[in-house]
Amino acid sequence: MTHPGTRYTAPEPAGSSGSTGSGPTSGPRRRASLIKSVAIGEALRETRAAVFLDRDGTIIRDTGYVRRPEEVELMPGAALAIRIANNRQFPVIVVTNQSGIARGMFSEHEYDAVRRRVTSLLGEAGAFVDAEYHCPHHPDFTGPCDCRKPGIALFERAATEQGVDPAASAFIGDRWRDIEPARHYGARGILVPSEATPPEEVARAQSEMLVIPSLIAAVEAAVGK
Ligand SMILES: [Mg+2]
Ligand SMILES: [Zn+2]
Repeated sequence: MTHPGTRYTAPEPAGSSGSTGSGPTSGPRRRASLIKSVAIGEALRETRAAVFLDRDGTIIRDTGYVRRPEEVELMPGAALAIRIANNRQFPVIVVTNQSGIARGMFSEHEYDAVRRRVTSLLGEAGAFVDAEYHCPHHPDFTGPCDCRKPGIALFERAATEQGVDPAASAFIGDRWRDIEPARHYGARGILVPSEATPPEEVARAQSEMLVIPSLIAAVEAAVGK
């Protein structure tokens, strides 16, 4: 049986002194509407805020149940976005629904091989994820669980195990369920739409939270520039 919400914590990376990357010098032109979020982002730094990131459709291209390392393709700007958070010393914590495991499409072992491939590609670009948590369930196959997003169990674990304050953190992903947990904590949720984002979720995020078209700009908004 799979252990619910298994996690992986990255080893201390070599050369993580913040000298690996250039800053967000080439990021897209920021809009005036981001000014408020930048101010909030700066306030976050005093409470060990994290950047919670979705994986599929946010960090890597969502080709539908990514199960082989060879299928992994970083989203444009993903490595730079993560490096910005790394350089600002915000923990980057990936929280991902992996119902392909419940569906029998891939195993925990295969999931882990994909995770390692993502780690490797990010590492080549000087970026690293501090910890990753995944839900292997799906209600139709394994019954209800409290770790599948928008459930908050994995964020609770991350808070305890990584020593971060979810209320001060940013929740970033390409689906409404990725950012809905922000509400529970009174935190900031930022939708970065992908090809897989239903239009009604974009509309909802626009009216109730925040939509930022690029992951780089979303992370900059989260960490303050
Ligand atoms: Mg996604
Ligand atoms: Zn679960």
